[in-house]
Amino acid sequence: MSILRITNGRVIDPSQGIDQLTDLWIRADTILALGAQPHLQADRVLDATGKIVCPGLIDMHVHLREPGRQEDETIATGTAAALAGGITSVACMPNTEPALDSQAAAEFVYLQAERAGNANVFPVGAITKGREGKELAEIGGLVEGGAVAFTDDGSPIVSAEIMRRALEYCRMFDRAVLSHCDDPDLTRGGIMHEGFESMRLGVRGIPAAAEQVVVYRDIALAELTGGRLHILHVSTAGSVDLIRRAKQRGVRVSGEACPHHFTLTDKCLRSFDSVYKVTPPLRTEEDVQALLAGLKDGTLEVLASAHAPHAPEKKMRELDQAPSGIIGLETLLPVCVTALIETGHLTWPQLIEKLTVNPARVLNIDRGTLRPGSMADVTIVDPAVEWTIDPSEFRSKSRNCPYAGWKVRGRADTVIVGGKVKFETSRTS
Ligand SMILES: [Zn+2]
Ligand SMILES: [Zn+2]
Repeated sequence: MSILRITNGRVIDPSQGIDQLTDLWIRADTILALGAQPHLQADRVLDATGKIVCPGLIDMHVHLREPGRQEDETIATGTAAALAGGITSVACMPNTEPALDSQAAAEFVYLQAERAGNANVFPVGAITKGREGKELAEIGGLVEGGAVAFTDDGSPIVSAEIMRRALEYCRMFDRAVLSHCDDPDLTRGGIMHEGFESMRLGVRGIPAAAEQVVVYRDIALAELTGGRLHILHVSTAGSVDLIRRAKQRGVRVSGEACPHHFTLTDKCLRSFDSVYKVTPPLRTEEDVQALLAGLKDGTLEVLASAHAPHAPEKKMRELDQAPSGIIGLETLLPVCVTALIETGHLTWPQLIEKLTVNPARVLNIDRGTLRPGSMADVTIVDPAVEWTIDPSEFRSKSRNCPYAGWKVRGRADTVIVGGKVKFETSRTS
């Protein structure tokens, strides 16, 4: 079995508290060892001088659109985009057509991911049949088919009773419920954050309370049931506060932040450009500051892209007609490096923890670690390279990226999935 040695890199593995210049050894599809191994003979050596070597990044919030909307993205193109972004595993949301609400649907995702042969894909099952919010989906069958968590993302669970039962049911399988917190009565017709900017622009707003009332409800239900709750795309200061206080009481809740919510604000909508239309909406500078504080103190332990591709002709419609969503697989890492590391908000180990072991824990998957014996998913990051984001170069089928022209730092250099090099930027050596 062939042996790969990654030498001279700064190995950061928060799952083991490792941050040191050392070697990483891979045999076939498995992590073999760390450090000097004089008795081992490598078949291939990758020089990682000046680079960071970490567990393969996990993006636990991705919309792959297959089946049903392959004009926006497919499992093959979405996972190719993931690799280019340094991501070795994605969890895909069930708001496809049809919805991922059956064992066969989950198995289809695994099959297509295997055919594509890019990043790993872990399907997230729907909580309710057809994501209609009425009747629980066959949670047991979905678990059998490999669903790693449950959500109706794209839509909230309107009924508190159904949310309660979902938390109880998922608890039996040790699966988390991922909540898209959004009260539809308060959100209806809204296009952007409700506040000074929406008033000034004369655009219908979505109040911060539309998110917070559901965050509050779901925390209360997690407390009631002992279920495991993950709040998707946290966007408001009030939500950060609710999650922080719930954690202090010992509620099993985790929080997720997406780059657009801490790098952009509702002021962007002054352009009336639909690329800035997203759910939940871009909020205010105070919300951005609260998200950064929540990332720093660990209230928000997961970073995810919420990659939501829409074909260009759909996003080109007027603001009120255009669908919500921003793509992010290929910008997650550099935007986080630029907005969180360069500014001193997070250290490298803190950033990598939120992109590896923490999402792996929420999803209860055996990834996100370089522990010997684990699957050899590894991302080698060039932390210093400066480059300009150009969506025309993306592997994704869609182009709804608000970061075109941004000068960023940091990029995936080499991406290894199951011991195989799946992505490499052109090496000069
Ligand atoms: Zn959502
Ligand atoms: Zn989503």
